[in-house]
Amino acid sequence: MTEPTTHAESWRDYRARWIWFLSVWAGGFALLSMLMMILPSLLGDAGVWITVLIGVAWALAFCVVMVRLLWFACPRCRKPFSLLFYLIWWPLSGKCLHCGLPRGE
Ligand SMILES: [Zn+2]
Repeated sequence: MTEPTTHAESWRDYRARWIWFLSVWAGGFALLSMLMMILPSLLGDAGVWITVLIGVAWALAFCVVMVRLLWFACPRCRKPFSLLFYLIWWPLSGKCLHCGLPRGE
């Protein structure tokens, strides 16, 4: 994967990361909830284990998309846009927590 070279490319990448994050979070939750109701009644114990494995896969996928969103680099200062001191995450921040670059500029 190549690094975005312009601010516009960076913001497109940021929006894509948000879409992945929300899709995996909400979509995975909805899918897993549905499978938890269907699979055990259809397959018995095997359905329970399949559901558990899918749940573990969802948790791992959630971690991946969350880390990708956390580590989005500000187009100007190249530091994590909404992560401060590697501890504080302010995902709805309208500006970079390091240099103050407004989101989308
Ligand atoms: Zn910045």
